[in-house]
Amino acid sequence: MDDLIPIAALNQYAYCPHRCWRMFCLDGFVDNQYTIEGASLHERVHTLGEGHREETWQIRAIWLKSERYRLIGKADLIEETDGHWVPVEYKRGKRGEFDNDALQVCAQALCLEEMIGSPVPVGYVYYAQTHQRQPIELSATLRQMTIEAIAAITEILNTGKMPPAIYGPRCKGCSLYEQCLPKATEKMKRYLEAI
Ligand code: SF4
Repeated sequence: MDDLIPIAALNQYAYCPHRCWRMFCLDGFVDNQYTIEGASLHERVHTLGEGHREETWQIRAIWLKSERYRLIGKADLIEETDGHWVPVEYKRGKRGEFDNDALQVCAQALCLEEMIGSPVPVGYVYYAQTHQRQPIELSATLRQMTIEAIAAITEILNTGKMPPAIYGPRCKGCSLYEQCLPKATEKMKRYLEAI
């Protein structure tokens, strides 16, 4: 595939592969309270600019790209201190129970490493509700999970094959619930298997 994968797709895929398919194969994005608040936050941080905070150089809304992993996306914030670079992703709310934000930061780090030619061992997610920076250790395990997610997304984008909609705790805050109807889909599937 020649097309680059949006880094944001990593977050969606890690949250729910079916949601990722809907958003990037069906162009089916639908807002809810959480996505509107998130978009508003990103509008504020997605203004290209640079500056210094004490010894740290900060660059906002910079495009990141990896030829090796076929990734592209805008980082909210990249910081450099004494030659050490870190990506910082802004999120509304507080730290969730899923690892989707970590995968997104890891994908940003993979791009950054390729662009600057040196390792990026840590990234951060800034949660607006708690005003906390959550460090994300870019471990071998997280990197492997991210690379596997990239491969799975590539497959979805290449084939258009729909991952199943599986009802679970993630559905509660999902803006695509009304389009997806995972409970009804599962019920229908069981009915068809029984006849
Ligand atoms: S409602 Fe649930 S299964 Fe459907 S896209 Fe959202 S998270 Fe995935």
